[in-house]
Amino acid sequence: MTEHAVDERFDLTGRTAVVTGGGRGIGRAIALGLADAGADVVPTARTESDLEPVVAGVEERGGESALLTCDVADADDVDALFEAVEAELGPVDVLVNNAGINPANALGTPDRVDQDAWDLVTDVNLGGAFACARAAAPNLEETGGCVVNVASVGGLVGLPRQHPYVASKHGLVGLTKSMAIDWAPDVRVNCVAPGYVATDLTEDLTENEELRASIEERTPLDRFAEPEEVAAPVVFLASDAAAYVTGTTLAVDGGWTAR
Ligand code: NDP
Repeated sequence: MTEHAVDERFDLTGRTAVVTGGGRGIGRAIALGLADAGADVVPTARTESDLEPVVAGVEERGGESALLTCDVADADDVDALFEAVEAELGPVDVLVNNAGINPANALGTPDRVDQDAWDLVTDVNLGGAFACARAAAPNLEETGGCVVNVASVGGLVGLPRQHPYVASKHGLVGLTKSMAIDWAPDVRVNCVAPGYVATDLTEDLTENEELRASIEERTPLDRFAEPEEVAAPVVFLASDAAAYVTGTTLAVDGGWTAR
């Protein structure tokens, strides 16, 4: 082992990464974190104007990028995305399935949740991850790449009044395990389960002082995470430093699920 062996294993120079939901919040931090580690990164989402500064951020860090929108719930759109990435940047080495939603009409006791809301949340959060993995599969097998899924503490424990979200995130944890088994030893598949992070998704929680304080009190580290604090473990799992890690879900939750 050379003196710098550990550092080199974190180096993603020459790797091409796709980050879904890469326009805002955690996905944006993951895209820029991967670029900081040397990767070429395509952040994708439905809103082009969110993606433009992230593409510019990747390029400022010396990486190649491309401005490509995609709705992960639309399998044709997903197929077109991976064809375009391969054509513009070459085969994908790293897929980060981060796109996720938890809209207001999907919250509540089961009798209050529309079937349409169930369908949309599971289509985006779980179906989208599967569609992207499926579309990226030939590339990942060619490059010996890896997948990192972004679940939630709601993928590890039950949360009241969030049935579609919790079911989809538990599904991602299971998908991670079964894909890791099927794809070994060629492709590694892992997952992170973030706790509470201040982003657009949690605006309702962070704007309500009482609710925010109760979540902080429930969290051993006593605060919400910064998006970059979720990005760093994702970069680790995407790197050769995690070469013997597959099929696992890493809680990045300030100790929330340790209680
Ligand atoms: P944000 O709402 O800030 O960002 C979500 C991103 O996903 C946006 O870029 C959005 O872009 C994109 N997205 C939504 N729907 C689709 C779609 N159909 N196709 C493609 N992209 C889509 O969320 P966060 O950054 O907070 O969350 C990111 C991930 O982390 C999610 O999977 C979430 O469940 C998970 N997470 C978040 C936590 C938190 O506390 N914030 C805690 C635990 C997990 P656009 O709308 O333009 O498509």
